Amino acid sequence: MSGPVIARVAVDLAIGKEFEYLVPDALIGVLKVGCRVRVPFGRQRILGYVTALTGEAEFALNRLKPIQELVHQSPLLTEEILRLSRWLSTYYCCSLETALKSVLPVAVRREEARFRKRLMVRVMPPADGDEAPGRSDLTPRQKEVLEIISEWREMPMQDLLKTAGCTAQVVRKLEQKELVQIREEVSERDPGAGDSIVPTHALALNPEQAEALHKVRESMDSGNGAVHLLFGVTGSGKTEVYLQAIEVALKKGQGAIVLVPEISLTPQTVERFRARFSSGPQSTGVAVLHSHLSSGERHDEWHRIRNGRARIVIGARSAVFAPVRDLGLIVVDEEHEHSYKQEESPKYHARDVAVMRGHLEKATVLLGSATPSMESYRNALEGKYTLLRLNQRADDATLPVIRVVDLRMEKRARKGQSVKSRFSPFTLPLKEAILQRLERREQTMLFLNRRGYSNNLMCHECGHVAGCPRCSITLTFHKSLGVLCCHLCGYREKSPGRCRECGSKEIEFLGLGTEMVEESLHELFPGAAIARMDSDALKKKEDFKRILSEFRIGRTDILIGTQMITKGLHFPNVTLVGIIYADLSLHMPDFRAGERTFQLITQVSGRAGRGDIEGEVYVQSFTPFHPAIQFARRHDYEGFYEQEAEFRQQLNYPPFGRMAMLLFRGPDEEKVSGIAMDVRQNLEKLLDGFPSLTIAGPGPAPLLRAEDEFRYQLMLRTRNMSRLSQYLSEWLSGYRLPAGYRLSVDVDPMFTA
Ligand code: ADP
Ligand code: ZN
Ligand code: ZN
Repeated sequence: MSGPVIARVAVDLAIGKEFEYLVPDALIGVLKVGCRVRVPFGRQRILGYVTALTGEAEFALNRLKPIQELVHQSPLLTEEILRLSRWLSTYYCCSLETALKSVLPVAVRREEARFRKRLMVRVMPPADGDEAPGRSDLTPRQKEVLEIISEWREMPMQDLLKTAGCTAQVVRKLEQKELVQIREEVSERDPGAGDSIVPTHALALNPEQAEALHKVRESMDSGNGAVHLLFGVTGSGKTEVYLQAIEVALKKGQGAIVLVPEISLTPQTVERFRARFSSGPQSTGVAVLHSHLSSGERHDEWHRIRNGRARIVIGARSAVFAPVRDLGLIVVDEEHEHSYKQEESPKYHARDVAVMRGHLEKATVLLGSATPSMESYRNALEGKYTLLRLNQRADDATLPVIRVVDLRMEKRARKGQSVKSRFSPFTLPLKEAILQRLERREQTMLFLNRRGYSNNLMCHECGHVAGCPRCSITLTFHKSLGVLCCHLCGYREKSPGRCRECGSKEIEFLGLGTEMVEESLHELFPGAAIARMDSDALKKKEDFKRILSEFRIGRTDILIGTQMITKGLHFPNVTLVGIIYADLSLHMPDFRAGERTFQLITQVSGRAGRGDIEGEVYVQSFTPFHPAIQFARRHDYEGFYEQEAEFRQQLNYPPFGRMAMLLFRGPDEEKVSGIAMDVRQNLEKLLDGFPSLTIAGPGPAPLLRAEDEFRYQLMLRTRNMSRLSQYLSEWLSGYRLPAGYRLSVDVDPMFTA
């Protein structure tokens, strides 16, 4: 006699608790951990996941209600993914349900999400060679349609209607005469359908690549879940190493996940993977997961991975949770990228999740970058990760020459000139370099990480600067729209033409934006073909593709853009790259500002000279001797790391200490700061004696006011974050804030500003 079976269920409400239900007899043996179920909850019926099956209830058995319905036959969550979700919820201090929301795409979770059905039309074979009875009295039209179907034997209704140019009624008539059969079939939406793929083959590896691959293969053979940091300069052939490592996985019958930052997930990138695995003995589907898929496409891609027909997944952040079976390898390209961090709860970092998933599933993890994050590099130095180096560009191109242009000198030289020319975005050396490229019919990319025209509308009479009434930041002027706009909350007002405070017309535009750069370019180089790429210029989904393809075929001479143009783009004819204003990232009130600037210069430089001609980079800056700029100029990562590490170590900042940031928000400033103070006192008591702990604050966040809310923060630093977040998680689940006030926890924050 076996006793009752009890299921623990995490319901779709973020209440941080699992509930017990009885498994009805009919579902015993069928119901598995990870299954989607419908259960009674209070007076409602809601959906949830089975997180465990046991024989013992914590609750009195007679008070348990039975599970009402099994929603999907097969479990949506594997045991491994469930374990990963539990880790996610503890480490990032959120409820299990919130973690599960990130793990499964909405399109899969939603009950009504289903495969699309389509109608198929098939000819019925004539009985015993006789003419079917209905065949003789067909109209010419019906005969014609029947002939088309016979030719194909079976075809989708939609295609038939198009080919025959007839209505569905004609086909239904044929069905009545039992000449054809119409049936429903599950059809998968394939976002890659219609692409034609030219297969590629593995390249012979140069010695550095071969050595790297050898190490990765060893790890895959032993199934130890080890992490490798592939530190290779831009263009050193990291992607080729990924491709061949994936091939190793496929040969073992395993699958692979490739994470790339959302903005590098271009058709060009995906094609490189599809092309390699579209044919040959290891051919398999390559599924793509990113935010531009329709929810139907996402649903189908997810199931294509789940049922093993696509063994390779390429995607942005959330693809780290893809339900790949027998996972052998996880690649995280551009591992230093900040977009791997999710900004909403759970505020996870996909690279760190990848490392944890690799550990849980014994899959090898391969992190790649030309500018590794200091966290990963330190792990490599400490021997936690295996360091693999690619020092040479694979295509024998040399790294570009980086020239730093001192904006202070320029400004002095222009003193006394008109306001307009004083704030031209172009220094003389950069202007000349662009001109040279135009003459030689080579291309230029210009980078400035601020869209709009100018973000500082300042009055010369009274010094007033136009700011957002709801946030503590300045408004950005968008000349083409004639509006001032808040880039944080979207607030807009018509551009004034005079000072809002004193009415003076002496207002000046300070603080460059891409729109102003574009305007100056047109004035300086009237004959040149110029395109701008930032989120303002991209109105439609196709704009991105169009602007890039026009640049690729050489129809555009100069491309100006925000960070959108820094990643993964490969244009052999680009021989000049200009960074209009490097100080922009340098002066962010964040301890990673220097690291970010170093990465930015290096990455942007990687766009120059990827063809036969040597590339050149101009970096314009008011602080040309800043170490981040100087080390980047010399392509000296280690040098930068060492000097930056010194200051981080002193302050116990990452990668030495770890951080958790508590952000308090609410309508009343005094109350927000009071709550923050109260929490600090609570935590001091709770964490009394916790090793290596520092609590800083509370204090106003660098962005004190956003969207009409005040923001205060509290920063915790420790060397043992796993333990600290366990304490925090538990404490938070019992903490209640007054209505209208919020507290969010960010473990390992990427931005402290
Ligand atoms: P990364 O990912 O490091 O930026 P890529 O993988 O894009 O570099 O490689 C840069 C270029 O070098 C590509 O055009 C690629 O086809 C080429 N390449 C890579 N490995 C080799 C190799 N072993 N032999 C010849 N060309 C290679
Ligand atoms: Zn004024
Ligand atoms: Zn605002």
